[in-house]
Amino acid sequence: MDYVVPAPPQPALAVIGTQARFPVHRIYCVGRNYLAHVREFGNDEKNPPFFFAKASDMIVEDGARVPYPPLTNSYHHEVELVAAIGKGGANIPVESALGHVFGYAIGFDMTRRDVQQAAAKKGHPWEIGKSFDQSAPCGPVYPVAQVGHLQDGEIEIAVNGKVRQHSDLNQMIWDVPNIISQLSQQVTLQPGDLIYTGTPEGVGPVVSGDVMVGRIAKLGELTIEVA
Ligand code: MN
Repeated sequence: MDYVVPAPPQPALAVIGTQARFPVHRIYCVGRNYLAHVREFGNDEKNPPFFFAKASDMIVEDGARVPYPPLTNSYHHEVELVAAIGKGGANIPVESALGHVFGYAIGFDMTRRDVQQAAAKKGHPWEIGKSFDQSAPCGPVYPVAQVGHLQDGEIEIAVNGKVRQHSDLNQMIWDVPNIISQLSQQVTLQPGDLIYTGTPEGVGPVVSGDVMVGRIAKLGELTIEVA
Protein backbone atom coordinates (compact mmCIF):
# COMPACT_ATOMS: atom_id res chain seq x y z
CA MET A 1 0.00 0.00 0.00
CA ASP A 2 1.22 3.45 -0.93
CA TYR A 3 0.25 6.33 1.36
CA VAL A 4 0.44 10.04 0.58
CA VAL A 5 1.85 10.82 4.06
CA PRO A 6 3.78 8.45 6.35
CA ALA A 7 1.45 5.81 7.82
CA PRO A 8 1.27 6.05 11.63
CA PRO A 9 3.03 3.34 13.64
CA GLN A 10 0.87 0.76 15.42
CA PRO A 11 0.70 1.65 19.16
CA ALA A 12 1.30 -1.48 21.24
CA LEU A 13 2.01 -2.72 24.76
CA ALA A 14 4.38 -5.34 26.16
CA VAL A 15 2.78 -8.63 27.20
CA ILE A 16 4.15 -10.53 30.19
CA GLY A 17 5.58 -13.93 29.26
CA THR A 18 6.06 -13.34 25.52
CA GLN A 19 7.97 -11.18 23.04
CA ALA A 20 4.73 -10.63 21.10
CA ARG A 21 3.00 -7.30 21.75
CA PHE A 22 -0.62 -6.24 22.29
CA PRO A 23 -1.69 -3.90 19.43
CA VAL A 24 -3.80 -1.01 20.72
CA HIS A 25 -6.94 -0.28 18.70
CA ARG A 26 -9.11 2.17 20.69
CA ILE A 27 -8.85 3.45 24.26
CA TYR A 28 -12.12 3.72 26.19
CA CYS A 29 -12.40 5.06 29.74
CA VAL A 30 -15.13 4.76 32.36
CA GLY A 31 -16.07 7.93 34.26
CA ARG A 32 -17.26 7.91 37.90
CA ASN A 33 -17.06 4.18 38.59
CA TYR A 34 -16.10 4.33 42.30
CA LEU A 35 -18.61 5.89 44.74
CA ALA A 36 -15.94 7.53 46.91
CA HIS A 37 -14.52 9.25 43.81
CA VAL A 38 -18.01 10.41 42.73
CA ARG A 39 -18.35 11.94 46.21
CA GLU A 40 -14.97 13.67 46.29
CA PHE A 41 -16.15 15.94 43.44
CA GLY A 42 -19.70 16.27 44.77
CA ASN A 43 -21.25 14.55 41.75
CA ASP A 44 -24.71 12.95 41.86
CA GLU A 45 -24.44 9.42 43.25
CA LYS A 46 -27.59 8.31 41.43
CA ASN A 47 -26.09 8.85 37.96
CA PRO A 48 -24.58 5.71 36.42
CA PRO A 49 -20.98 5.61 35.15
CA PHE A 50 -20.36 6.56 31.50
CA PHE A 51 -17.71 6.33 28.78
CA PHE A 52 -15.26 8.63 27.04
CA ALA A 53 -12.25 7.93 24.85
CA LYS A 54 -8.61 8.72 24.19
CA ALA A 55 -6.63 8.14 20.99
CA SER A 56 -4.56 4.96 20.74
CA ASP A 57 -1.26 6.83 20.26
CA MET A 58 -1.71 8.55 23.64
CA ILE A 59 -0.37 5.33 25.21
CA VAL A 60 2.87 5.63 27.19
CA GLU A 61 4.72 2.55 28.45
CA ASP A 62 6.17 1.72 31.85
CA GLY A 63 9.33 3.62 32.76
CA ALA A 64 8.61 6.64 30.55
CA ARG A 65 9.20 10.29 31.42
CA VAL A 66 6.19 12.30 30.26
CA PRO A 67 6.34 16.06 29.77
CA TYR A 68 4.08 18.29 31.88
CA PRO A 69 1.23 18.96 29.40
CA PRO A 70 0.22 22.37 28.00
CA LEU A 71 -2.88 24.41 29.01
CA THR A 72 -3.08 23.16 32.60
CA ASN A 73 -2.06 24.10 36.13
CA SER A 74 -3.77 21.03 37.61
CA TYR A 75 -2.37 17.84 36.04
CA HIS A 76 -3.99 14.94 37.94
CA HIS A 77 -3.21 11.24 38.36
CA GLU A 78 -6.00 8.63 38.21
CA VAL A 79 -4.86 5.03 38.72
CA GLU A 80 -7.11 2.46 37.02
CA LEU A 81 -7.42 -1.22 36.16
CA VAL A 82 -7.22 -1.62 32.37
CA ALA A 83 -9.01 -4.48 30.62
CA ALA A 84 -7.40 -5.47 27.30
CA ILE A 85 -9.96 -6.88 24.85
CA GLY A 86 -8.96 -10.03 22.96
CA LYS A 87 -12.24 -10.88 21.25
CA GLY A 88 -14.59 -8.28 19.81
CA GLY A 89 -18.35 -8.09 19.71
CA ALA A 90 -21.50 -6.00 20.03
CA ASN A 91 -24.32 -6.35 22.57
CA ILE A 92 -22.24 -8.72 24.70
CA PRO A 93 -24.21 -10.27 27.58
CA VAL A 94 -22.82 -9.75 31.10
CA GLU A 95 -22.63 -13.53 31.57
CA SER A 96 -20.16 -14.07 28.72
CA ALA A 97 -18.33 -10.71 28.89
CA LEU A 98 -15.20 -11.99 30.64
CA GLY A 99 -14.58 -14.31 27.70
CA HIS A 100 -13.73 -11.20 25.64
CA VAL A 101 -10.82 -10.15 27.91
CA PHE A 102 -7.28 -11.06 26.85
CA GLY A 103 -5.62 -9.62 29.93
CA TYR A 104 -5.25 -6.79 32.42
CA ALA A 105 -2.84 -3.92 33.07
CA ILE A 106 -2.33 -0.90 35.31
CA GLY A 107 -3.20 2.42 33.66
CA PHE A 108 -3.08 6.12 34.55
CA ASP A 109 -5.94 8.22 33.12
CA MET A 110 -3.96 11.48 33.26
CA THR A 111 -6.25 14.50 33.40
CA ARG A 112 -5.99 18.27 32.95
CA ARG A 113 -8.45 18.80 35.81
CA ASP A 114 -8.81 22.58 35.53
CA VAL A 115 -9.45 22.39 31.79
CA GLN A 116 -11.87 19.46 32.22
CA GLN A 117 -13.90 21.31 34.85
CA ALA A 118 -13.98 24.56 32.85
CA ALA A 119 -15.28 22.64 29.80
CA ALA A 120 -17.93 20.87 31.87
CA LYS A 121 -19.11 24.18 33.35
CA LYS A 122 -19.67 25.54 29.83
CA GLY A 123 -21.50 22.38 28.77
CA HIS A 124 -18.64 21.50 26.39
CA PRO A 125 -17.26 18.00 25.83
CA TRP A 126 -14.53 17.33 28.40
CA GLU A 127 -12.23 15.85 25.76
CA ILE A 128 -9.72 18.69 26.09
CA GLY A 129 -9.20 17.75 29.75
CA LYS A 130 -8.80 14.02 29.12
CA SER A 131 -7.51 13.41 25.64
CA PHE A 132 -4.02 14.85 25.00
CA ASP A 133 -0.52 13.69 24.11
CA GLN A 134 0.85 10.98 26.43
CA SER A 135 -2.29 11.06 28.60
CA ALA A 136 -2.65 7.27 28.81
CA PRO A 137 0.31 5.58 30.56
CA CYS A 138 -0.22 1.81 30.65
CA GLY A 139 1.85 -1.05 32.06
CA PRO A 140 2.47 -4.42 30.41
CA VAL A 141 -0.54 -6.65 29.78
CA TYR A 142 -0.86 -9.68 32.07
CA PRO A 143 -2.77 -12.41 30.18
CA VAL A 144 -5.85 -13.92 31.82
CA ALA A 145 -4.16 -17.28 31.20
CA GLN A 146 -1.59 -16.26 33.86
CA VAL A 147 -3.48 -14.12 36.38
CA GLY A 148 -7.14 -15.03 35.89
CA HIS A 149 -9.84 -12.35 36.16
CA LEU A 150 -9.46 -9.55 38.70
CA GLN A 151 -12.73 -9.08 40.59
CA ASP A 152 -11.03 -7.75 43.70
CA GLY A 153 -7.59 -6.82 44.96
CA GLU A 154 -5.76 -3.70 46.05
CA ILE A 155 -5.28 -0.75 43.70
CA GLU A 156 -3.09 2.21 44.63
CA ILE A 157 -0.79 4.96 43.41
CA ALA A 158 2.08 6.56 45.28
CA VAL A 159 3.69 9.87 44.30
CA ASN A 160 7.31 10.25 45.45
CA GLY A 161 6.74 7.30 47.79
CA LYS A 162 3.59 8.70 49.44
CA VAL A 163 0.34 6.79 48.81
CA ARG A 164 -2.31 9.08 47.29
CA GLN A 165 -5.00 6.64 46.14
CA HIS A 166 -5.71 3.29 47.78
CA SER A 167 -8.80 1.17 47.29
CA ASP A 168 -9.99 -2.24 46.15
CA LEU A 169 -11.20 -3.32 42.72
CA ASN A 170 -14.34 -4.67 44.40
CA GLN A 171 -15.45 -1.05 44.97
CA MET A 172 -16.30 -0.52 41.29
CA ILE A 173 -19.93 0.46 40.61
CA TRP A 174 -19.83 -1.39 37.27
CA ASP A 175 -17.55 -4.43 37.44
CA VAL A 176 -15.61 -5.53 34.33
CA PRO A 177 -18.41 -7.76 32.92
CA ASN A 178 -20.90 -4.91 33.26
CA ILE A 179 -18.51 -2.40 31.71
CA ILE A 180 -17.95 -4.63 28.68
CA SER A 181 -21.66 -5.34 28.29
CA GLN A 182 -22.63 -1.67 28.55
CA LEU A 183 -19.86 -0.42 26.25
CA SER A 184 -20.63 -3.06 23.61
CA GLN A 185 -24.17 -1.68 23.33
CA GLN A 186 -22.67 1.69 22.38
CA VAL A 187 -19.88 0.56 19.99
CA THR A 188 -18.64 -2.71 18.53
CA LEU A 189 -15.63 -3.81 20.56
CA GLN A 190 -12.55 -4.99 18.67
CA PRO A 191 -9.47 -7.03 19.60
CA GLY A 192 -6.89 -4.49 20.73
CA ASP A 193 -9.33 -2.21 22.54
CA LEU A 194 -8.30 -1.05 26.01
CA ILE A 195 -10.83 -0.10 28.66
CA TYR A 196 -9.67 2.07 31.59
CA THR A 197 -12.20 1.05 34.24
CA GLY A 198 -12.33 4.19 36.40
CA THR A 199 -10.43 5.55 39.35
CA PRO A 200 -10.97 5.40 43.11
CA GLU A 201 -10.87 8.44 45.42
CA GLY A 202 -7.72 10.41 46.20
CA VAL A 203 -6.95 11.91 42.77
CA GLY A 204 -4.65 14.89 42.89
CA PRO A 205 -2.02 16.98 41.12
CA VAL A 206 1.52 16.08 40.10
CA VAL A 207 4.28 18.49 39.08
CA SER A 208 7.56 18.26 37.20
CA GLY A 209 9.98 15.86 38.86
CA ASP A 210 7.28 13.77 40.55
CA VAL A 211 7.49 9.99 40.21
CA MET A 212 4.19 8.08 40.14
CA VAL A 213 4.14 4.37 40.97
CA GLY A 214 0.85 2.51 40.43
CA ARG A 215 0.22 -0.94 41.87
CA ILE A 216 -2.59 -3.45 41.41
CA ALA A 217 -2.56 -6.89 43.00
CA LYS A 218 -1.15 -9.48 40.52
CA LEU A 219 -0.21 -6.78 37.96
CA GLY A 220 3.10 -5.52 39.30
CA GLU A 221 3.87 -1.81 39.09
CA LEU A 222 3.65 1.08 36.60
CA THR A 223 6.27 3.81 37.06
CA ILE A 224 5.99 7.16 35.26
CA GLU A 225 8.04 10.31 35.90
CA VAL A 226 6.77 13.80 35.12
CA ALA A 227 9.54 15.57 33.20
MN1 MN B 1 -10.50 8.07 34.95
